[in-house]
Amino acid sequence: KEEVNIISGALDLRKKTVKDVMTKLKDCFMLPITSVLDFETMTEIVKSGYSRIPVYDGHRGNIVTVLFIKDLAFVDPDDNTLLRTLCQYYQNPCNFVFEDVTLDVMLKQFKEGHKGHMAFVNRIEEGEGDPVYETVGLVTLEDVIEEMIQAE
Ligand code: ATP
Ligand code: ATP
Repeated sequence: KEEVNIISGALDLRKKTVKDVMTKLKDCFMLPITSVLDFETMTEIVKSGYSRIPVYDGHRGNIVTVLFIKDLAFVDPDDNTLLRTLCQYYQNPCNFVFEDVTLDVMLKQFKEGHKGHMAFVNRIEEGEGDPVYETVGLVTLEDVIEEMIQAE
């Protein structure tokens, strides 16, 4: 029965972590903050089909903000606007979670919803000195719900 499946899927959320369902960083469509919003870049963004684009500074593991597709509404490709300028204007916050956060906790956080329905999955890189966070993927509400309803 479908109801039973959904309930058992919901219970399974406690056994799985964001790392199990995330989209790996290498598969994420992202932009360097140094991008110029020219015609080519804007076409690429729209073609990607995603409504939220992580923006990184330096290397891909260092995400600093998110670009929403709607932020592009007033951007004229002929102006060659710097992505950095647009990001400074909107300052969309990012939501970070550690990779071992379970899906029930993630779902609750998405429901509370103050930071939107996407989170970046972080890992602590062990080493000398201060711990360094490295982003390894992203997870959205859709990934959690998918996990919940596909369980058999
Ligand atoms: P929306 O449905 O709100 O327009 P969307 O289609 O851009 O958003 P989601 O529906 O939240 O994204 O997620 C669909 C899938 O795409 C999920 O598996 C998610 O992890 C993945 N995803 C979301 N954004 C990106 C991105 N920028 N690059 C790669 N994968 C992404
Ligand atoms: P710095 O003080 O070197 O400028 P910072 O202010 O970015 O670094 P920290 O002082 O290292 O951050 O950490 C502050 C708190 O924020 C810590 O409790 C840490 O767990 C959390 N934190 C910082 N960056 C991240 C991140 N990328 N992902 C998750 N948690 C983070």
